[in-house]
Amino acid sequence: MTGLAELVRVSNQVAATSSRLAKIRELADFLRPLEREEIEIALPYLSGDIRQGKLAVGYAALQSARASAASAPGLRLQDVDRVFQTLKQVKGKGAAEQRTALLRALFQRATAEEQGFLVRLIVGELRQGALEGIMVEVVAAAAGLPAADVRRAVAFAGVIAPVAAAALSGGASALAQFSVQLMQPVLPMLAQPAEDMHAALAALGTALIEWKLDGARVQVHKSAADVRVYTRNLNEVTARVPEIVAAVRGAAASSLILDGEAIALRPNGRPHPFPVTMSRFGSQQDAAERRAELPLSVFFFDCLYIDGDMLFDHPTRERRDALARALPPALVTPALITNDADEAERFYQEALAAGHEGVMAKALDAPYEAGRRGAGWLKVKRARTLDLVVLAAEWGHGRRRGWLSNLHLGARDPATGSFVMLGKTFKGLTDATLAWQTQEFLKREINRDEWTVRLRPELVVEIAFNDLQESSQYPGGLALRFARVKGYRPDKRPEDADTIDTVRRIYQESIA
Ligand code: AMP
Repeated sequence: MTGLAELVRVSNQVAATSSRLAKIRELADFLRPLEREEIEIALPYLSGDIRQGKLAVGYAALQSARASAASAPGLRLQDVDRVFQTLKQVKGKGAAEQRTALLRALFQRATAEEQGFLVRLIVGELRQGALEGIMVEVVAAAAGLPAADVRRAVAFAGVIAPVAAAALSGGASALAQFSVQLMQPVLPMLAQPAEDMHAALAALGTALIEWKLDGARVQVHKSAADVRVYTRNLNEVTARVPEIVAAVRGAAASSLILDGEAIALRPNGRPHPFPVTMSRFGSQQDAAERRAELPLSVFFFDCLYIDGDMLFDHPTRERRDALARALPPALVTPALITNDADEAERFYQEALAAGHEGVMAKALDAPYEAGRRGAGWLKVKRARTLDLVVLAAEWGHGRRRGWLSNLHLGARDPATGSFVMLGKTFKGLTDATLAWQTQEFLKREINRDEWTVRLRPELVVEIAFNDLQESSQYPGGLALRFARVKGYRPDKRPEDADTIDTVRRIYQESIA
């Protein structure tokens, strides 16, 4: 049974060593003797995370839960885990008091050093991306297995802790349960938004730039003549898309896993709107009839498996070569490899001119990160706009001191008549607009604190943004990415602003 004190000790030791190898050795030595459940608890703690996710406990709550320290360590990892589990479940009336009581009881059992660790763990101060990065090697070293095998299993499991528990208790054969098999779809890799082409190339250097088609994600598995098609949510849709089956059945390779986009194109090659493509995926229809009315095209952009070789861990460049070997060019997404910003921009503009959504820029040496929004894929899309209402504004800093600058933006909720905050921006504001808005905001002030002035929701502003992402921070569950001000819309009243339903629809369309 392992105690928290031992984990704190190794965590401090690792923080004090700069040698990567020494860190790996120390962490591996610590993990090796742990029990299965302890591994699942300890592994996230070591990189500053908690397996329950965020606990929503702030400094203030921690302050009021302060207790005198225990003189000797006695907390087991399971004890801490159980308290976190309960904290996560406490909701509703009296929740704050209950949380404080739970935390106080935990702190009373912890030594001063353990208390310090727990506080920093809870508020997220210990989070260390770099350590997370070496954990694959730690688990491999602790289990005596090749790091590549552990990395691959993590790609399929999506998180490392269960893989670590399996590897340490069951060795190589237990890892195999996380491998991919033909006709068992895996979660697709997702992309992160980039502000523009320039930012994408600055992040990736030389990159593979591909058309981003606004259709439906498809993962196609082929084993000899057996071909199956799965959606992004891993539903099987083989019977609905006979033309995709036929296209892949004719491929040069005998077994394949392909990742791509299905899209309905007009006779002139331009795409139909997204809902038209999606109409082919409904279940209640005669596939042959629908195919004749609205044929689908398919463009593959990744090859994850070819004739017995698993390619997930291989760099983009190699997976792309495999794709070219397996399929005729007409089935491969148009692409360009470049580090030249002008050339990339031209390709992006061509994609837009052809009616597509934008481009994907992909790191040439990145692996395929199943189920993850990997930093190796950046999407550059034509910006969209929404008319939103300014709910509050934060005072500017530096050159903007004295001006209300960072806008809190909300969409209208037709059900309640109130506004749902979607994000903030201080971008796109000229000095003249800053001066004007500061004056207008102060006329509409409801109240303020040190940083923020809250306003009557009366001013409509047109906002350009590149993307929407799920967010636990905002009340609508969605947040704008790369939002910037295009201009105020004095011609519009708050009742004319875009609704949260519209925003949700845009998001739903973007994730199909
Ligand atoms: P988004 O939904 O905006 O996050 O963009 C990711 C989606 O773009 C993927 O799930 C695919 O369905 C789609 N997509 C279109 N073209 C590509 C491409 N060349 N590479 C990767 N994904 C693509």
